[in-house]
Amino acid sequence: MDIEKATEVGFCFGVKRALRILEETIGEYGEVETLGPVVHNQQVVDRFGQLGAKAVEKPNQIKGNVAVIPSHGVSPNVLEELASRGLKVVDTTCPNVRKAQSAARDLSESGFWVVIFGDPVHPEVKGMLGWAGYRGTATLDSRSITDLDELPSRLGLLSQTTRNPTQYVDFVDSIASSSLSRIDELRIINTLCNITKRRQADALEMARKVSLMIVVGGRHSANTRCLADMCLSAGTETHHVETAAEIEAAWLKGQTAIGVTTGTSIPDSVIDEVMLKLDELNRAGQE
Ligand code: SF4
Repeated sequence: MDIEKATEVGFCFGVKRALRILEETIGEYGEVETLGPVVHNQQVVDRFGQLGAKAVEKPNQIKGNVAVIPSHGVSPNVLEELASRGLKVVDTTCPNVRKAQSAARDLSESGFWVVIFGDPVHPEVKGMLGWAGYRGTATLDSRSITDLDELPSRLGLLSQTTRNPTQYVDFVDSIASSSLSRIDELRIINTLCNITKRRQADALEMARKVSLMIVVGGRHSANTRCLADMCLSAGTETHHVETAAEIEAAWLKGQTAIGVTTGTSIPDSVIDEVMLKLDELNRAGQE
């Protein structure tokens, strides 16, 4: 049975950059604290924990002198709070996320009410809303906007960087078709990450060819969950795993071909273990 790995797997440039900065910061200061996990992958967080990076949930839990901002960014209020306490702030925000934050700020400063297509509880989305000065909202359901009795006269739409492009287009379409007669201006910004878009397109193509998809990535990783949803939307049996240990022999029974894709915060070592385990289970099934 063919077991195929997607062309592009493992860390994206934003995650590589964040981890390089974190490693350099630990090298310079010893122990540091990250505001939330530096990336959404437990194995990576554990490895950096051993090197000296401790993840805390809130700015007021930072006890040391060095605060590291994760790749998905934070709101300007958080940056101000940390700076006002005299902490050394090391910012690993991905340049793509930074672009989305700037778009949110610019829309808001130009008088638009900002609508973010994204998960309202995801740290990246919370940060973007902060950059919009909280003059807006975040949602994945266009009806929460179109059902409003009154709409602001100017609406600015943007997306969480890792969302599915087709769903963003549907979201935009739905808002445009039902609100244009009620507002003066609608501005749409493309803040989707190109790397995520490419991986999603590849995953969909692969899912249409194989009978089983294995999507490797952190449980809380938004881009991994989107990849898994995309594979499922092709009608292909799909399993989202964090490690090779979660793969079950029964999943391979009766399959004709397997495709493997990964989120953007998964180390190469985990991908190698997944490929090895699938290969072993495949061989065992043929004996
Ligand atoms: S997935 Fe895209 S936006 Fe997210 S960290 Fe990687 S490069 Fe940046």
